[in-house]
Amino acid sequence: MAATKTIEIRTEIPGPRSRALLERERRAIARPLMVHLPIFAERAENATITDVDGNVFVDFAGGVGVVNAGHAHPRIVEAVVEQATRFLHTDFTVVPYEPAVALAERLCALAPISGEKRAAFFNAGTEAVENAVKLARLHTGRPGVIAYEGGFHGRTLLSMTMTSKFHPYKTGMGPYAPEVYRAPFPDAYRGPGADEALERLAHMLETHVPGEHVAAIVIEPQLGEGGFVPASPEYMEGLRALCDRHGIVFVADEVQTGFGRTGRMFAMEHFGVEADLMTVAKSIAAGLPLSGVIGRAEIMDGAHAGAIGGTYIGNPVAQAAALAVLDVFEEEGLLERASSVGDRIRERMHAWQERWPAIGDVRGLGAMLAIELVHDPQTKDPAPELALAVIQAALERGLILLKAGVHANCIRVLCPLTIEEAVLDEALEVWEDALVTVLG
Ligand code: PLP
Repeated sequence: MAATKTIEIRTEIPGPRSRALLERERRAIARPLMVHLPIFAERAENATITDVDGNVFVDFAGGVGVVNAGHAHPRIVEAVVEQATRFLHTDFTVVPYEPAVALAERLCALAPISGEKRAAFFNAGTEAVENAVKLARLHTGRPGVIAYEGGFHGRTLLSMTMTSKFHPYKTGMGPYAPEVYRAPFPDAYRGPGADEALERLAHMLETHVPGEHVAAIVIEPQLGEGGFVPASPEYMEGLRALCDRHGIVFVADEVQTGFGRTGRMFAMEHFGVEADLMTVAKSIAAGLPLSGVIGRAEIMDGAHAGAIGGTYIGNPVAQAAALAVLDVFEEEGLLERASSVGDRIRERMHAWQERWPAIGDVRGLGAMLAIELVHDPQTKDPAPELALAVIQAALERGLILLKAGVHANCIRVLCPLTIEEAVLDEALEVWEDALVTVLG
């Protein structure tokens, strides 16, 4: 392994302080909130996290895709402090404030949807999804929602129902919300291809749930939790045509793909077609809880007053952070950076694929990349234990990686787009070293 400059591993992992905290955590925090990594954070800066034992890790998880603009960027922290010293909360629908309006203006200008647009803010990604469906139902007067195999949309009742992976997200938590139907996602590696997936959706709209019954089709432009499978331009064009033919609202769930992850501000920009509504969250506010729905004014304004809302919607501190995130994108050229970071990682991943047949696929848009581990590249039999072993070996060497995929056999990249080049190279060395350890 190359001499490391940023990563510093001073103790065994987890170290004594993290172990002591884990003991307390087990007695105090509800078991289902299982922690994935046994290290406790002390501080984080750009692409690194320092744990309570003084170990410094490079973070390729970004808290699951939340810190595209880096951990604790000084510009964002400054904006948060400035807003926090003025006021923390008034409830926007009781006493409104400018950061919400300014953020709506900027996001409407950036959203790849033409015509007049509006934005509405919430807290979590799941709320954005639920509210997008509400808006689509009110607009169309129809109940049905089509979601995708491999899709993930959150953990509240409707979004949990829309989520495809049953275990652990749905097990034992039914009855599920009614009127959710499921279509196959186009998958260049495992199939179905774009044409077949479109044919099956068209057939579904004729035979299973008629188009005039469907309010919305909700699609991630690239599956997130489902294994970083990108949709294709052909599929998205066909989907747009089907939505137009049947008067269905096209909802792009950009919660994980948004804010530069794919090398464009929003992933829909890769496909040459427009959604009607899009949901955003995660990297929007660099770690403060904020989400939103942005879309065509006709749909957004169509709902009656009070149809959407909530005590904490669009917190002003989170919105000050979000405005600063947009400034950082502009000032630091983060979209270009996302493309170059993505190219560098993709090149390395392809070299790994040449070397190890267990890496069945390398895929993703921009810097939203993953490798898929299989036992046999011919049968594509998923190898989740190999993915887990690589993640474990990387952690011991100071790199935080996350799995993904319906079969939990993918390892994904959600590193800050602000990562320094030397740190990126160091992290890729560590990842490679972990692959050597596990795959030989
Ligand atoms: N939609 C997508 C595409 C996601 O990836 C997620 C979370 O991972 C959600 C929705 C739900 O977001 P949250 O966990 O903030 O509710």
